[in-house]
Parts: sequence; structure tokens; C-alpha cells
Amino acid sequence: MQQLINNPNVISGGPNILSTPIEYLKGVGPVRADLLKKELEIHTFSDLLEHFPLRHIDKTIVGLIKDIRPDTDTIQVAGTLLFSEIVGAGRSKRLVAQVRDRSGILELTWFQGISWVTKLLEPGTTYLIFGKTSFFNGKPQIVHPEIEVFVPAVAGGKPHLEPVYPSTEKLKARGLNGRQLAKLTAQLFQQIRSSDIPENIPEAILQKYQLTSRATAFRQMHFPANPDEFKKALDRLKFEEFFMVQVRMNLVRLRRHRYSKGVAFEKVGELFNQFFHHYLPFSLTGAQKRVIKEIRNDTGHGRQMNRLLQGDVGSGKTIVALMSMLLAADNGFQSCFMAPTEILVQQHHAGLQKLLKDLPVKVALLTGSTKAARRKEILEGLLDGSIQIVVGTHAVIEERVKFSRLGLVVIDEQHRFGVEQRARLWEKADIPPHVLVMTATPIPRTLAMTAFGDLDYSVMDELPPGRQPILTVHRNEMARASVYDFVRSEIDKGRQAYFIYPLIEESNKVNYEDLLQGYEQVKSFFPEPKFRISMVHGKMPAEQKETNMQRFVTGDTQVMVSTTVIEVGVDVPNATVMVIESAEKFGLSQLHQLRGRVGRGSEKSFCILLTGSKASKEALERIQIMTQTQDGFVVAEKDLAMRGPGEIEGTRQSGALNTRVASIVHDRDWLEKAKIEAEELVAEDLTLELAKNLMLRQYLSLREGKTAWSRIS
Ligand code: ADP
Ligand code: MG
Repeated sequence: MQQLINNPNVISGGPNILSTPIEYLKGVGPVRADLLKKELEIHTFSDLLEHFPLRHIDKTIVGLIKDIRPDTDTIQVAGTLLFSEIVGAGRSKRLVAQVRDRSGILELTWFQGISWVTKLLEPGTTYLIFGKTSFFNGKPQIVHPEIEVFVPAVAGGKPHLEPVYPSTEKLKARGLNGRQLAKLTAQLFQQIRSSDIPENIPEAILQKYQLTSRATAFRQMHFPANPDEFKKALDRLKFEEFFMVQVRMNLVRLRRHRYSKGVAFEKVGELFNQFFHHYLPFSLTGAQKRVIKEIRNDTGHGRQMNRLLQGDVGSGKTIVALMSMLLAADNGFQSCFMAPTEILVQQHHAGLQKLLKDLPVKVALLTGSTKAARRKEILEGLLDGSIQIVVGTHAVIEERVKFSRLGLVVIDEQHRFGVEQRARLWEKADIPPHVLVMTATPIPRTLAMTAFGDLDYSVMDELPPGRQPILTVHRNEMARASVYDFVRSEIDKGRQAYFIYPLIEESNKVNYEDLLQGYEQVKSFFPEPKFRISMVHGKMPAEQKETNMQRFVTGDTQVMVSTTVIEVGVDVPNATVMVIESAEKFGLSQLHQLRGRVGRGSEKSFCILLTGSKASKEALERIQIMTQTQDGFVVAEKDLAMRGPGEIEGTRQSGALNTRVASIVHDRDWLEKAKIEAEELVAEDLTLELAKNLMLRQYLSLREGKTAWSRIS
């Protein structure tokens, strides 16, 4: 009682009881509290409440020792202690005990907490024993079992599901095994009331999906009466988890729509129309039309656009960017078009010039290697407004450029472009420009919804018509000679080829050996002077890299030997073959990005994945997926399923993915439902002022306080 009184949270009473430090729970105290904190990160009542069981066991089901088989995983038996003794010394010192039931004898072993366990054990007493079984010298045993004095179940009693908690060896050795944790949790429910776990989802939504109330769900996660109750509790918490993420994301997105001022591209003017009717060399795909419409809608109303555009390699994002920039120009605004590398920027610049022909739009190219005099001209032109579009590398534009009227920023090939970087661009104009981020890294829908839910989001899931499919095959290294012969036949037809090598990282040192050997090997296969070979890798001086790349782009060299540096965006339509060496060492999305470098022209293209004989099962699975589909979104879904969300490029830092019970891979139904409800709720009540949303609002403001605090500390 004294302890309780000393705890300020308890004195103030009310909603804070869950933030009470764990030592104030009856049965814990300072020593155990220390262990719980160190071993399980359980600091408060609420941490214990959210320390969910791994599974439940039915305590009324007691097995027989004779039924333990080599493939038995865990078992619960009731055995009478025959003896216990300490054997060995030093490191191999252990406590060994034997128990017997009517069917056989079981050995129990402890390596840790020996003195503590010894005190518990009394020969002749019957214990309920639970644990993972193994065999030692042909005899069954359990190492570090959970053990307590056996109380026979009442005959005909109801099944009793007992939670099994994740614990650690150290905790078990100190007597805080799963069963003890269950006792503490039961104690916790004695000390708190249902009203301490207030509802946070509006009633109508609970009704609609038949969701268990929050307080009940927490209780039934730990102590369900039957498996069905547990499942319903789990479903409720999964929905809640997704729902809260989606509400937050929607609040950020819609509040920005409502309150952030943006420049308005009110009219569709001369440049846009001229281009659309007379200059466009093809008709737009349905997806392109849809996205352009979305952008027009976004930018037309005086609120700032923040749009992520995802389109698979070759889906035609550049034209969408261009038409958006023409829209800006029509309304008297400038645009900047940024790409990550100098090569890409040059290609974009040349591409735009070719498309725009004689249209009266001034486009400038600005990179690190722009000559000083030219740079000065461009900077002046941007400042006085005579240049409408500048194409450049991120670094250059961020550092030195000032605009007269910046209205639109397009960022190509970088979905990782962070909020901070965007904010820096906003500073370049009084009213923040619209931002369009384009990426060719397909991201599964569920992942995008979660990781980028605060952005507006468009997908181009359609390739322009008439594309030749890329034939992707898997070959063993042994077949290398025939692969080279094939490449030679393509080059003889006037085409170009890539050979890609992985980089091996050894203790922070990147190893280029394979690449250099590969270069020699390729050279020896194509010895005639008519074959010219470029090589590019990340450690090369930038200038040399550019030169070598440029020679390949212009067709001066027929073969490009490279690491993954060519991964992003490069467009050489005449290249029709890509050989990926040691393909087992690449991830799925990387393979897909690489493959996107071929199949860009009208000729049939090929991607050959070479592997050694040591490829793992998973690597072979990745390669098989590559040979089966060319759809980036399918590849991305498989990648997500194989690796889980935490590993997908560019989403790692997203806090939205740190879900505890829900999984965006396995619970997408709940995610979809949560998204729909969150969107509807936020659209109706952006300030969360309606009475029905009061609890939600309180919940979120408490959580927000928490996050803000953790950021400060
Ligand atoms: P990405 O989305 O990978 O950036 P690009 O914008 O580079 O794709 O377009 C790839 C190629 O497809 C370019 O050569 C482009 O001219 C062409 N293209 C784009 N849209 C269409 C279309 N609607 N019909 C035919 N070809 C198109
Ligand atoms: Mg592109």
C-alpha cells in the first residue's frame, strides 16, 4: 500500500494508471521490476498489458511422459519429483532432477538460476511441468521447464486456456517464467478497471465490423475462454492498429489539403493544348491520362500538391512530368525537374527538347559540370523568369538556384526523397510549389498505403502498347560459353549488351574483384577490335564514369560491364541483352530494376540470369519469379511476402510499419477496412470535434504527446 501511495500516478488517479511503473504492481517489487525492464522492456502497467502471449495452452490437458517422441515440440505433464542434484562444476554446472508419472520418467535440467530452483523443489511433491522437449542419451528431457505445484483440475471442469508468454532464459532462471508472467498479468487485471482501457474506435465502426470492445479485447488476448474469443480479440486489435495509422495519415494529408496554401494552375492553356494536339508523338495510355487528370485537379485549386507517382519501368512517367510542367508554364509558373544522376538529367533534357521541338518553352540544363558562364546565364534566367523549366541534379538545384516564380517540382526516381528535402524546396518560393515525386520502384499497394499514406498517391499500372516482352531465362554458370555466343549474335545484329556484376561487401570494404575479372573475361570472349567495351563502377571518378556511360549511350561501345550503378533510369533503347552475373546475390526488386534497362526499344530483348551451383532455395525462388513475370507490381508483392515490410527499400524508416499484432502481408483485409473507415471519418470530421469521435481524439492526443516526448529525449 505504501508503494501505491508513493506513486504519483496512482494518487492523481484516473486515466494514468496504465502508465504506473511496473514495480507498483503487486507481486513485482524493485528486483523483478528491474528484470522485467531489462529483459522484456516492460516498464509500465501498459507495457505488461501489451506483452501479449505467443499462444494459449489448455491447462486441463496433461500429457504422459511415455508419449514424448523425438518430434514432440512442447508437452505438459504432471510428475512427482524423485530427486534433484547439482552435477558438474564451473561452466557445465547444472541442476538435474527426475520426475515420474504413471507412464515413465522425465529428466529436467537447469543451467541457470540453480540455487533459486533448488529451493523450490521438494521430493515427493507433484509438479505441473511445461516445456520444450528434447532427447539426451536416448532419454526425454526438458531444459529450463516451467514448473509449479500441481493442482488437479476439477473433473468435468471447463477447458482452461492459459497464456504462454515470450520470456527469456534469464527471466525463467529467476523464476519469472511464462506462468509467472501470466500471474502478474492476472494481477494487473485485478488492479485496473475496464474504464482504464477506454474505447478509441467510434461505436458505429465497432458495430459494423462486430469488433470486441477495447477493454474486453485486451483481457481476452490474455485470458480467453476459448480460441474463438482469442481470435476476435486479436482481430479487434489488428483493426485498431491499422485504423490508428490510417487516421493519422489521413489527418496529415487532408489537413495539408485544407490548410496548406498552394499556387493555383487555374487554366489549361496554349502550351499544354498545343503539345497535346500537335506534338505528342503517340496517344497517351489510359493510366497516363488518369494521372494527368489527377494532377490537374490537385494543382488547380490553390492547395499544395504532394503526390507520389509510381509507375513501373517504361510506363511513361516522363511525359506526365512534361505535361504537368507545361500546365505550370501556361499559368506563368516555373518548374524544376530533378533526377539523381548527371546521365539521367542529360537524357531528360535531350528527351524534353526532342518532344517540345519548336514550342516556345525555354528549358535549361543545370548539373555539376555546367560551365561557369552558362551557369550564370541560367541562374539569371531563372531569377528573371525567362527560363520556364530547369532540368538538373538534386544537389545543384537545392544548393544554388533561386526562382522568380517556382510552381512545380518534379523529383524523378527517388521515392526516398524525404520530407526535409521537400521542405527545403518550399523555401524557394513564397507559396510552396507543388511536388510530384516519381518512382519506378513498384511498391505493393498495402505497403504504399501504410508507408506513404500521408502523400497523395497515383499508380501507372499500364505499359504503352506494342512493347515487346523481355524474355527472361535462368542459366547455370556452366553454360556461360553459350550465353556469350548468344550475346555475340545480338551484337552482330547491331545491338548492345549489359553485363552486370554484384558488389561483395566484406567488413565495410567493397570488393570489385568480380567486376574486374568479369571485364577481362568479357574482353577475352570478344577479342576482335570491332567489339568495344565500357566499364562503369561506383568507385570510378565521376568524370570517367560519365565518359564511359556516354560512349555506351551513343553506341560507340557495344558492351557495358558494370555494377548496379546503371540501375536507375538509363535509357539505351538499342540495348537488347542483359546478363546478370551471380544473380543469386541480388534482391528481387533490384533484379527487376536492372532488367528494366532492356526492352526499351522495338526489338525483342533478353535477360539472362546466371547463377553458380550454390544458390540458396530462396535465391532460386527469386529467380523463378523473375522468369515468370515482368510485372513490377507482382514482383513487389512477392518481394514483400518473402522479406516482410521492414526490408523493403525506402520504407524502413517509416514508423507506420511498426505494427505489433497486425501484418500488412497477412492481414490486408483488415488494412483495407481500416483505410476505408479512416478516410471516411477524417473526411467528415477533420478536426475530430464530433462527439462520436471524442474518444479517438483523446487517444490520439495522448499518443502524440508520447511520440513528441520520445523525440525530444
Ligand atoms: P519511365 O516511366 O520508366 O520513366 P519513360 O517516360 O522513360 O518511362 O518512357 C519510356 C518510353 O516509352 C519512352 O521512350 C517514351 O517515349 C515511351 N512512351 C511513353 N508513353 C508512351 C505512350 N503512351 N505510347 C507509346 N510510347 C510511350
Ligand atoms: Mg523515367
